[in-house]
Amino acid sequence: MVDIKPEYKPEGLEGAGYFATSLSKVVGLARANSLWPLPFATSCCGIEFMATMASHYDLARFGSERLSFSPRQADLLMVMGTISKKLGPVLRQVYEQMAEPKWVLSMGACASTGGIFDTYSVLQGIDRIMPVDVYIPGCPPRPEQVLEGILKIQELAKNEDIRRRHSPEYKAMLANYGLE
Ligand code: SF4
Repeated sequence: MVDIKPEYKPEGLEGAGYFATSLSKVVGLARANSLWPLPFATSCCGIEFMATMASHYDLARFGSERLSFSPRQADLLMVMGTISKKLGPVLRQVYEQMAEPKWVLSMGACASTGGIFDTYSVLQGIDRIMPVDVYIPGCPPRPEQVLEGILKIQELAKNEDIRRRHSPEYKAMLANYGLE
C-alpha cells in the first residue's frame, strides 16, 4: 500500500479515521492554493513575470496559473513596472474593484519605490496609494524571486484568521488610505 503524506497539513486533532481543525485553517488552505493573480504589468518586470508563467518555472505548480484580467475575478494584484502618477488612480480603481479577501504583491524596484525613476511624474512606490502585502526587490527580480513572493503570499493567506478583514485594525489601515 502506498503511504501518501500530505505536503502541508494544518494543526489539528487527529485519530483513526478523523482529522479536526479550525474553520480558519481550512479556509486559509483553500485560499492559499487557489490564488488568482491579476498581472498589472507596465514595463520590463512584466516580461520577467511572463518567464515565471512559462513552462520552465511554471507558476501553475502553485495553483496560480489562472490569470485574471478582470479585477472582480482576482484576489492577488501583482504590480510590476513603473507606475506613473497619472496611472496611479487607474491602479487604485483596479484594487478597489477586487473583492475581499485580496492581497497585493509589488514586484521590482519601480513598483516598490519608483526605482531609478526619481522624477516628478513617477509614483515613488505603490504603497502610497494602496496597502502592499509583499515586496519583491530587484531590477528586474528573477523568476525564483517571484515564486518566493507568491509563496510568501500563500503563507499570509494560509495563516490569516477569517475575521481579520472585519477587525478594527484592518479597517483603520484601510481608512489610512481613504478606503472602506
Ligand atoms: S524594476 Fe527594473 S526591470 Fe522592473 S520595471 Fe523597473 S526598470 Fe524595469
